[in-house]
Amino acid sequence: MRRRRTLGMAAALPAAMLAACSEPSAPGGSEEASSAPPDEGQSPSPEPEAVPGASDPSRPTPVVDRGPGGSGRVALTFDADLTEYMRAQLESGEVDTYHNEELLSYLESEDLAATFFMTGMWMRQYPDETSRIAANPRFELANHTFEHEAFTSDCYGLDYEDEPEAMREDVESTFDVMEEFGGNQTRYFRFPGLCHDEAALQALQPLGLTVVDGDVVSGDPFAEAAQPIVDAVLSRAEAGSVVIMHIGGPNAPQTHLALPSIVDELRNRGLGFGTLSEVLAD
Ligand SMILES: [Zn+2]
Repeated sequence: MRRRRTLGMAAALPAAMLAACSEPSAPGGSEEASSAPPDEGQSPSPEPEAVPGASDPSRPTPVVDRGPGGSGRVALTFDADLTEYMRAQLESGEVDTYHNEELLSYLESEDLAATFFMTGMWMRQYPDETSRIAANPRFELANHTFEHEAFTSDCYGLDYEDEPEAMREDVESTFDVMEEFGGNQTRYFRFPGLCHDEAALQALQPLGLTVVDGDVVSGDPFAEAAQPIVDAVLSRAEAGSVVIMHIGGPNAPQTHLALPSIVDELRNRGLGFGTLSEVLAD
């Protein structure tokens, strides 16, 4: 069953849903995150051509926060959120775009590795941008649900699914959309708000994916200045880190302004940048 909040709650949702994207610890999140190393759940001799993040559906869904850091690389990850509410704002003209062209152009111009956790609805809304992302050999595509609904009941006011079958269908349909674009496909998945519990992990187990939370929360949703984002990332990032940011237009309006300082300083520290599959394997 799909449960909806009241209309009054819905009006307050946009702030809550983006803020939820970057909460450092979600209900039930930390326990799983610390108990599953990156390769747990995979067979001893995986297929050479296996898609990054693919896991054994007969074993519990792996959950990872970061990589081991052996090669001195950091994974920059960008969530691309879109909901029915946000799409209605685009259609009415209230919001121009939930894409951040400056951010994508910067990543391209610097030839930076990055991983995009995309909602199915964002890919449908921005097929040209999604194609650009898929065409870049330094970018990876990952799954952030179809329309950014939570899979636990108490996730910062997000609408939520509580039926395992509906959860599976949502995530599988998002992989289906993603596969249309080709490029560096993965079976990485990030829950909206990072909210997951045992029931949600069990619901997704048949899909053979890897849940990626992240260990560095940038705090970019609704930021009013770039410096707090820069400070948040630089105070925590180290080799192997997975940095959570957003490509979200007005919902993450400072990210492209903060990123050059972050990249320059991490380079000064001798760190490099890798795709998620690279950083998790380092
Ligand atoms: Zn999100």
